Amino acid sequence: MNVADSELMAQVLDEEYDLTVQAEDADLYLINTCAIRRKSEEKVKSLLGSLKFLKQKRPQLILGVGGCVAQQEGERLLASAPHLNLVFGTKGIYRLPGLVDRAVRGERVVDVALERDFPDPPHRSWSQGTVQTMVTIMCGCDNFCTFCVVPYVRGRETSREPGAIVDEIAAFVAAGGQEVTLLGQNVNSYGRGLPEPITFPQLLRRLNGLPGLNRLRFATSHPRDLSPALINAFGELSALCEHLHLPVQSGANRVLKRMNRGYTREHYLGKVAALRQACPGIALSTDLIVGFPGETEADFRQTLDLMREAGFDQAFSFKYSPRPQTRAATFPDQVPEDVKTDRLTRLQALQDELTQKAHARLVGQEQEVLVEGRSKRSPQELGGRLRTNQVVNFIGPRELVGRLARVSITEAHPHSLKGRWVQGSSTG
Ligand code: SF4
Repeated sequence: MNVADSELMAQVLDEEYDLTVQAEDADLYLINTCAIRRKSEEKVKSLLGSLKFLKQKRPQLILGVGGCVAQQEGERLLASAPHLNLVFGTKGIYRLPGLVDRAVRGERVVDVALERDFPDPPHRSWSQGTVQTMVTIMCGCDNFCTFCVVPYVRGRETSREPGAIVDEIAAFVAAGGQEVTLLGQNVNSYGRGLPEPITFPQLLRRLNGLPGLNRLRFATSHPRDLSPALINAFGELSALCEHLHLPVQSGANRVLKRMNRGYTREHYLGKVAALRQACPGIALSTDLIVGFPGETEADFRQTLDLMREAGFDQAFSFKYSPRPQTRAATFPDQVPEDVKTDRLTRLQALQDELTQKAHARLVGQEQEVLVEGRSKRSPQELGGRLRTNQVVNFIGPRELVGRLARVSITEAHPHSLKGRWVQGSSTG
């Protein structure tokens, strides 16, 4: 979502500013921030410190901080950094041109208003050859998991009008786009509060009918709100990719309860089983927190067991870090840092094993790849993703970039796959 928000910042400022890759050339330098963990927040503060020198060299430079840390810190951030001109929160992006104007005129500006509506995004156009895009369909969250800062920095859940979403995606496909990722903190509850009654699976069905849209993805889903209709959509909608990111956070009921997640491990595993029945080839990824307050070794082992049982293809795992305003930050039984580190290492070793097994199962299969460009590891190779979201590198002609190609998977690596292009196969 932060990547999508950064793109949005560039779009709303498009008439006044061009993007530059050289920080030294910039007249306006905006830092988009994440507050989900303490580490990312610390990085912002250290970057801000290092930018003092740039500002000393170019005093006319307008320096701004936006996003979740800005939302959380507001005036405090401005007070802590005298060289900072502008602080804007998660909804302030839409008001950026006016805020930047005020900063250019010499005002030190703070805008952290969190109004409830979903502002109209600017008209988007896509450059030649753009085949993937992200579209925000809702923002905010009403769940209040006890570890999470999102409801405080993104506000309450708000959904965007379905007609505007369909029109934006239709325009993207008409311009040659192939793959769309729908974004929101909890897309499963999309539609609540809209004048036109619509559920998330109904929105997916409308989008699935758009001719030329080959791949549809979404993130993120709350397991409690994963409805049977959404599970069935994976077996029914041809554009919907066979991959779901379904954050479980912990495998122990005691911990899930204290996290206020609203489901048990049995519920979660029941949904995994239903997904595998509706769509046998589906790949699952998840988020996991280790060292949540009060987590015992036995709780942690239940998480490892759940990972094995669910057979995750990929997991994003983090040590718990207390966030301001959240309930879990006040829990007295915080877990020592060395215990968290040890658990994270063990958990990641298990996930590496599971990922390797999932990759090995693909060897020998012929799969569809959306070719994204030159491979990051080797410029002689092309790289792209399967519908199930794994990265595949293979040798093939440059003309395949932006197209769908058939690739036979030949090798499984820890973070990617290697394949052989099935000559002549490409569409799109
Ligand atoms: S559902 Fe997700 S975004 Fe909402 S509070 Fe829980 S972890 Fe945070």
